[in-house]
This record gives sequence, structure tokens and C-alpha cells, in this order.
Amino acid sequence: APVIFKNNHALNDFKKNPFLEHHHNGAVFAKHLIGDALRRRVEGIDHESCEPGDEDTFFVGDLGEVYRQHMRWKKNLPRVKPFYAVKCNPDPRVIQLLAGLGTGFDCASKSEIEQVLDMGVEPERIIYAQPCKTNSYVRYVASKGVKQMTFDNADELRKIAKLFPDAELYLRILTDDSSSLCRLSLKFGASLDTTDDLLALAKELGLNVVGVSFHVGSGASDPMAFLKAVQDADVVFKQAYAHGFDLKTLDVGGGFIGDTFEDMASVLRDALDEYVPPHVNIIAEPGRYYVSSAFTIACNIIARRTIQDPATGEASYMTYINDGLYGNFSSIMFDHQQPVAKVLRTGQRTLYNTPSAEAFPEGVDAGIEHSIWGPTCDGIDRITESIRFKQELDVGDWLYFEDMGAYTKCSATKFNGFSDAHDVIYVCSELGARALLGM
Ligand code: PLP
Repeated sequence: APVIFKNNHALNDFKKNPFLEHHHNGAVFAKHLIGDALRRRVEGIDHESCEPGDEDTFFVGDLGEVYRQHMRWKKNLPRVKPFYAVKCNPDPRVIQLLAGLGTGFDCASKSEIEQVLDMGVEPERIIYAQPCKTNSYVRYVASKGVKQMTFDNADELRKIAKLFPDAELYLRILTDDSSSLCRLSLKFGASLDTTDDLLALAKELGLNVVGVSFHVGSGASDPMAFLKAVQDADVVFKQAYAHGFDLKTLDVGGGFIGDTFEDMASVLRDALDEYVPPHVNIIAEPGRYYVSSAFTIACNIIARRTIQDPATGEASYMTYINDGLYGNFSSIMFDHQQPVAKVLRTGQRTLYNTPSAEAFPEGVDAGIEHSIWGPTCDGIDRITESIRFKQELDVGDWLYFEDMGAYTKCSATKFNGFSDAHDVIYVCSELGARALLGM
């Protein structure tokens, strides 16, 4: 079960600290709270005597960061209502917070829909955004009144006509996602030369098409992909009107990244103002944007192998930690991420968020070289090929990795018998979010 971290001490310390008070912003306070949570946990673990599992990897999740991302969204895309993509990180506290903030939810399966409904979210706030759905799941959503769903092909239309003729359908169109980290259009999306026929079939089957959706690819990097997709959606809106459908909503999907959000949002905002009249609702399905930076993971060094360079005699280390590609670092494989290790604790010193915690930049030939490996038997289970720290790391030391909230624990496996359920210590660096969460 998640541990709820009520850090009123930290809040009071923080208020007393003139430096921090002077520089008060959520991100500074967040570092303070996250550091405190990490430190308390790892300083209580003695790897010489602890029980199996005590030194397991764990997350610190800052719900205040999710809250700040929401405020940033509202400021930059005021016309667009976010439906958080649950697949990205179905953390119950994140969903609770976002439900309290009034977002909708993009769900891809029965269990995601069930999780969100069980938290008291109304069916109208859910979109079943999976163009190729399981029959029994369609029957399930029909019984629960979750009407909004996407489609992109004729067979799916016939399925829906049979199982849930009252559904509210979004025609998902193909996008140019070539600049994204994870391409989705290889698999989903109707090309513009098929949309007219699909709309004609939907009409013939007596179905209710209410909108158009697209996704520019997860981790998109070209803002112009949004402009092109909005222009294409405009073409499909016009086709739909010609077939007698009164479309009410445009769904602009996900793909947003924290680092480039303002640039993306500005292109999207202008495109929406130009092509989408004010009476049309606009929704989106952001996942990564909300959670990536909110979670930090701490991993224990369980073993080390010393490699001696025969020519120079210099030692480097193969460092084995208790999480890897088959676990929470599945993001390296599936999401093309390159998580960067920092030193949390070595010997008796906790270094979180200090210059000594940082590795030397890539290419700098200084410090002590380490490669970092996961705990399973597989040679593919390598997190970092080469990283140089000021310190020599040993068994029992701790590393941490930031920005581990998106597509990490949701795709972890139990391969080799390692647990896929890890503690999350929740902190909250925003008072507004605390109030919503009762923290
Ligand atoms: N919507 C759909 C249909 C998706 O497939 C995905 C990701 O795969 C998302 C939303 C979330 O995308 P992101 O995390 O890039 O915002």
C-alpha cells in the first residue's frame, strides 16, 4: 500500500528558512520535500541486516508537480479540457488529484475504466480511446454508460453497431508522427482518403459520430504536427457535416512534453483559433506531460564487479542495482528514454540535489567510470553503458533517477521473480493540491 507522507515538519522548516522563503516557488519546495522523503527512507535501511525487500527500489511522487502541470495547462490551453491518459501512470493518488481538479480520463481497457469509475468519476468524463476494442469490454462500457469511444475502421463500426449502437463516436485520423518518440500512426488512424467512406458507413448503420480525434505520437517534438492534424480534422469535420452529422468535439490527443510544452501549446492554440469555431468543444489526452517529472525513483546497489584496465591499471565498475529494464526502467525499451543516474547516498553521506550527486557530463574523461545494470539474468538489462561519478560506488549505496513518472511502473514485469509492486512515498509541494487530497 502506498505510504502517505505528511510532511508538516518540512513545511515549517521551509517557512523558517529565509533563503528558501525568499526564493519560494513550487519547484524549490518540491526538491526540499523529495530530498527529505528519500533521505528518511534510505537512512533507515541497513543493508547488512535488513529483511528481503526492505532495500527494494521505491518512488517518491510529488503530487504538487502534477498540480503545477495542470495549472500550466490551463494557462496555455484554456480552450482544451484534458482527459488524462491513465495508461501512462495509473497511480491512484494521481487519478484522485486529477479527478478533484476536474479533468476527464482517457482509458484503454476495462480495468482502467473500472479504476476510474470506482473513484467516483462520472462516465461522461471518460473516453474509451482505443480504436480496436475487445467485444466484452464494449459490452462492459455499454452497461456502465461510458459512451465516448474512438474508431478508425469499418469492422470496428460494425462491431459497435452490434454491441453499443448508442455510443458517441470519435473518428480517429492518421497523423504525421515521424518526429515522435513512440509512433502510434503505424497502428492506428484512418487516412484522409478513407474518412468519407467511414462516415457514410456510420450513417448507414445509424451510428452517432460526435467528433474527430488524432494523436501526433507520444513524445512529439515537432509542433507543426499539431497544425497539420488540426487542418486534417477540419477537412473531416466538413465531410461529417455533409453526411448530416453534427460534430461537437475535437480531441487533439496526447504527445505533449514538459520541456517543450509552451512551444507546442502556442502552435496548437493558434491552429485551434483558426480552424475550430467556438461552439466546438476541444479535449486532449495528455499522459506523459502530467506525470513524467512528478516521480523520482531510488535504487539500491546490490552488487559490483571491478574491471581493471590491463594497460593503465585504472579501475572501473559494473554496478548492479535492484531495478532494470524488466522493471521500472521498461521505459528504456518501450519509451526510448535514457534515465540519468545521480548519487543519492554513498557510505554515510546523503548527496541528493548537491553538486556531488551529479555525474560528469557525457564525454568528460574525469571521475570513476561505472556501467549500471539491472538485476535480471539478461544481458539486455543495462541501464547505462558508461557514466562517471566523483565517487567510487559500492554495495549498499543508493542511486536516484528523476523524471520517472511516465511509462515506467505501468509496464514493469515480474521477470526473474522480482517484484513489480514498489512503494510510492507521496509528498505534495502545493498547498492547493494538499487540500484536494486531504494530505
Ligand atoms: N491517447 C492515446 C490514444 C495514446 O495511445 C496515448 C499514448 O500512447 C496517449 C493518449 C498519451 O500520450 P502521451 O503520454 O504522449 O501524452
